[in-house]
This record gives sequence, C-alpha cells and structure tokens, in this order.
Amino acid sequence: MKLATYELDGRTTIGAVTERGVIDLSAIAPDMLSLIDGGSAALAQARSYLTPDRPAVPIEAVTLLAPIPRVRRNVMCLGLNYVEHAKESAEARGREFKQHQHPVFFTKATHTINRPDGVIPFDAAVSADIDWEAELAVIIGRGGKNIPASAAFDHIFGYTCLNDVSARDLQSNHSQFFKGKSLDGACPIGPWIVTADEIPDPQALDITCRVNGVVKQHSNTRYMIFNIPAIIEILSRGMTLDAGDIIATGTPSGVGFARKPPEFLKPGDVVEVEIAGIGVLRNRVGA
Ligand code: MG
Repeated sequence: MKLATYELDGRTTIGAVTERGVIDLSAIAPDMLSLIDGGSAALAQARSYLTPDRPAVPIEAVTLLAPIPRVRRNVMCLGLNYVEHAKESAEARGREFKQHQHPVFFTKATHTINRPDGVIPFDAAVSADIDWEAELAVIIGRGGKNIPASAAFDHIFGYTCLNDVSARDLQSNHSQFFKGKSLDGACPIGPWIVTADEIPDPQALDITCRVNGVVKQHSNTRYMIFNIPAIIEILSRGMTLDAGDIIATGTPSGVGFARKPPEFLKPGDVVEVEIAGIGVLRNRVGA
C-alpha cells in the first residue's frame, strides 16, 4: 500500500493512494503513527478495507502532508553512506578520503519535517549554502533493541523519499552536523509511505535528485556502504528504536557543495527526489 497523510475539506486524515484515487483510512486509524503502532493487525485491516466499493477521491483533490507530520523524535540519519559521496565530500573539504569503519550517525530535529510540495524556508541571513541530499528513508514499524541484521526487515513498516536539506556553512562551522541539518522545514518526506511488502528489495532502487528539472544525483540504493539490515543492527545495538522512527540512509554523490564550482539552492528553485517504486517528492525553495 501507498499510505498518505492528507488534508481534504479542512480535515486531516490518512488514506491509501490507489489507482482509483485516495481512499480514506480513518476508520482504521486516526493518523499514521497510530496505524504504525497497530502493527501487522492494523495493516491487515487497512488492506482488507480497500474494497472496490470504497469511495476514492482524485489525488489532485487532496493536499498531501508529510506522511508522519509530527514525528515523536529526531530523524536519525547516516552520513557518508555512499562511497562516491564520501569521496566527493572529502575532496571538497580538502581531506584525504578514508572509508569509515563504522556508520556516521547524526539526527535532524523534529521541526525539520516538511511535506510534499511544501516550501523549504530560505533566509540568507541564516544560511545561503542550502544543499540537497536525496535519500531513501526507512520507517520503523515494530520497535526493538539489539535487532540482528537477519531480523531487521521484520521491524520495517515501509519506505519513503527524503530530502536531507543541509546548510553547509552551519554544518561545518559548528563541527557537529546537528544545527546545519536542523533548520525548520529541512526534512521534506513523502509523497507517501510505501509499505515494506511492496518493496521486496530496498537495495535495488534507482534514486535521483533534480533541481529545476536538471539531474544532480543519480544512483542506486545498492551502493550504500552500510545496507539497511546493517544500519538497523548497528543503530539498535544498546539503543531502542521505536515504532514510527525515521532513518535516512544517506545520499549518493552529486550534492551541491561538492560540485565544481559549488552550487546551492536559491529562492524559487524546485528540488525533486525520486525513488523507483516510491514516487517523486517535490519542494520549492521559498523566501
Ligand atoms: Mg544526508
């Protein structure tokens, strides 16, 4: 299923995006986190609710929100998880490239969450080095601690597109990534969550980022250094993952700051993250 959170006639609800349109699933759960908390039983209920007689509204008639509009805690992210991106980052920062033996983890604050077609705030007084990062996001279904890689997929609810919008000057000025990764609206997600059963191999998905229609990043999730089971095993070692947690799995090469000359987003730009089997997440950079 493609599961969306949306607004229609002033009401926020969740639904399934189908070939016929969007089917309201508020009879199953009031919001996405409740549906995720409901586990496989709630998902099975949702699936069986989608009978041909259920009314559907055209996708154009609804306003899509972030699939999880208010996350319970920070978005967890991997840095430098594609070799080519790790190499371009090292070169742009004048450092020698060394592959990390352990994943680089950081988080994005909860207020970064942004919606499909939402505006990415731009304030040159805060940062004029706003960059794009197309990423596959994993949504945790069943929480857990010390999850072995072999059981990782049992803990995944689904997948969505994510743009790890980054203020490069803040990211380097403050040593830690946190501030540069956490400006309001700097984490568009969507356009919906595709449930895990519909993506049998999340390590074989083409991933693309376009700015104003020009391809800036194009790769495949098979090139992750630490794959999804490894990420979940390592992240959950001694640290509980909760239902509804979002893990951003890193970005491939082609980000703006590493281009020659460097490129950054400016007001009016349209940035798109597209992942095969999921969809297109489109945002405009605002003023
Ligand atoms: Mg990133």
